[in-house]
Amino acid sequence: MSKYLNEEAIETPRKEESLEDTIHTNLDKITVSQETELSSAFDPIQRINDGFKHFKIHEFNKYPDYYCKLAEKQEPKFLIFACSDSRVSPTNILNLRPGEAFMARNIANMVPEFNQLKHVGVGAIIEYAILALKVEVIMVIGHSRCGGINRLISLPDNDTSYDFIDEWVRIGEPAKAKVLAKHPHASGEKLQTLVEKESVMNSLGNLLSYPYVRSGIADKKLKLLGGYYDFVCGNFQTFEVDDIKPTTNIQE
Ligand SMILES: [Zn+2]
Repeated sequence: MSKYLNEEAIETPRKEESLEDTIHTNLDKITVSQETELSSAFDPIQRINDGFKHFKIHEFNKYPDYYCKLAEKQEPKFLIFACSDSRVSPTNILNLRPGEAFMARNIANMVPEFNQLKHVGVGAIIEYAILALKVEVIMVIGHSRCGGINRLISLPDNDTSYDFIDEWVRIGEPAKAKVLAKHPHASGEKLQTLVEKESVMNSLGNLLSYPYVRSGIADKKLKLLGGYYDFVCGNFQTFEVDDIKPTTNIQE
């Protein structure tokens, strides 16, 4: 942490100084402290400032009523699980505005089974989304050429070379086993795509192990959906939880 952040640069704002001023001051200090470490022409602070400026002008300032209402509370209809892959942000590919979707992103968009001793961060997201936010839809979105699914497919049986990744992607092992049993000769990209899609179904199945999910579905207040984004073809499919066949297929 201290490699990236000069701890001395984080100060409690003085009373006469706004929090915004303090953040700017601290960011200046951090920038200075990293000058000798960053050799690339890429300026992260500039990129972030430019990005926020664009959002502020074209979104925040343009729709004051929307953002004023949003400042009071969030009422997202969706909880979305998506991969951490930088190419598959649901906000971008599904044109979601702030306030529309509570988001959970992780390696290979996986949902583990209910377990109060493991992966509690995921459990907390599901619990909060359903009990506090009362989301109406939980969607798990898989994608093409997923590095996490690739790792799952190539996992050694008794060995591991990562601290966290292998243990995490093993959540998808039932999906991998199901695909291999059904398509014993599948390999390469075909196998990868099959496991990517089956893993979405596996995660949707795991969602049913959460009591709040089961009761939400029983009360007809919650729906589960699967999705698959192919960024090679520019194609998005949605799947009903009890039907792996795509219900829609958008490619325009
Ligand atoms: Zn991925």
